[in-house]
Amino acid sequence: MKTTRSVKKFHQKLHLWYAVHGRRDLPWRNTADSYAIYISEVMLQQTQVKTVLERFYSPFLEKFPTLQALADAPRDAVVKAWEGLGYYSRAANLHDAAMRAAPSLPVEVEDLQALPGIGRNTAHAVAAFAHHAPVPVMEANVKRVVCRIFAIKSPKTDDLWEKAFQLLDDENPFDYNQAMMDIGATVCLKRAPKCGECPANEICEGKLNPEAYPEKVQKKAVPTRSSRAMALMDAAGKIHLTQREGKFLNGLYGFVQIPLETNHFFIENRRINLAETAVVSFVTQVYSHFRSEAEIRFIKLDWAGESAEWYTPAEIAELALSGVDHKIWLEIRRFLAEL
Ligand code: SF4
Repeated sequence: MKTTRSVKKFHQKLHLWYAVHGRRDLPWRNTADSYAIYISEVMLQQTQVKTVLERFYSPFLEKFPTLQALADAPRDAVVKAWEGLGYYSRAANLHDAAMRAAPSLPVEVEDLQALPGIGRNTAHAVAAFAHHAPVPVMEANVKRVVCRIFAIKSPKTDDLWEKAFQLLDDENPFDYNQAMMDIGATVCLKRAPKCGECPANEICEGKLNPEAYPEKVQKKAVPTRSSRAMALMDAAGKIHLTQREGKFLNGLYGFVQIPLETNHFFIENRRINLAETAVVSFVTQVYSHFRSEAEIRFIKLDWAGESAEWYTPAEIAELALSGVDHKIWLEIRRFLAEL
C-alpha cells in the first residue's frame, strides 16, 4: 500500500511528465463534448490511436456530428461508417445507445453504464474526460501499469479497480487518466519497459522484473473454419448479398457461405448445383476466435433475382461489407475482368 505522501509525489511527477511528453494534441483530448469523447473511446477499444486518428474519428463525426444525428441515422449508414474498424457489434451498440440517450449522454457513471455496450471503463472515461469526474480509466495499457506498480501477477477485476482508485489523482482526473494511458502506451511497454524514464518509478513495486507482471496467459490455438463463399450473378448482372444478423458481423452485407460438404443449396426457391459453379479463388481471414478459409465459387444465372438481396456493383460500393467479403468481392471483380 502506498502512503498518501508517495502517491502525491507520484502525481506531481506524472503531471510534469504529461506536460512534456503527453499526447495532448489528440482531438478527443481537446473537447468537452461527451459524445465525441464517447465515440473516440469506443473506436479506441480495439484499434490503435494512429488508425483511429487518420481514418475514422473525424469522418464519423462529420457524418454524425451529434448524438441525435447518430440516433436519427439508419443502422446501415452507421455500420457503413464503422466499416474497417471491426467488432461490428460496437457500431450496433453505439446506435442503440444513441437511440436510448439522445439528445445527450447522461453525466453519471451508473447511468452511462446502463446504456448498451458501455462498460465500466468507457463510462469512467466519458465521465472523467467530459465532466472531470474523479474516477480512474483502466483500458489494457493502464491495466498493465497498475499491475506493475502493485506487482500483481494474476489481476482480479475488483482488486484492480480498487488499486486504480488508490492511485487516482481525484483533483485532476482528466490529466491523470490521460497520462496513465500515455505511460502505458509509450513507457511501460509490454516488452522492455523504459523504467528509467517513468514517473511511477519511485513507487513501482514491479520495476525490478516488470515483464513478470501481469503473468502471461497462454493463448488458446484458434480453430480453422472452412466454407464456400457463393458469388451469384443474376441475369441482370446483379450480385447476391445477404445482410448478417446476430452478434458476429452484425449488420454487414456479405456473400452466402455454405459448408464445404454441401453439393447444392437454394436461393429464392431455386436449386443451385455446385457442379455448375466455377472456383474463382480462395480467401482467408483471421478473427480473434477463429481463422476462416473460404473457397470462392461463382455462377452466372439465367434468371433475374426477385428479392431485394441483389445489388449492382455501384450499389455494393455503398454497402458495409466485412473484411472477408471485401476480399471476396475483389477476387470476383478480377475474375469477371478476365472473362
Ligand atoms: S517503473 Fe517500469 S514497470 Fe513500473 S510502471 Fe514505470 S515503466 Fe512500468
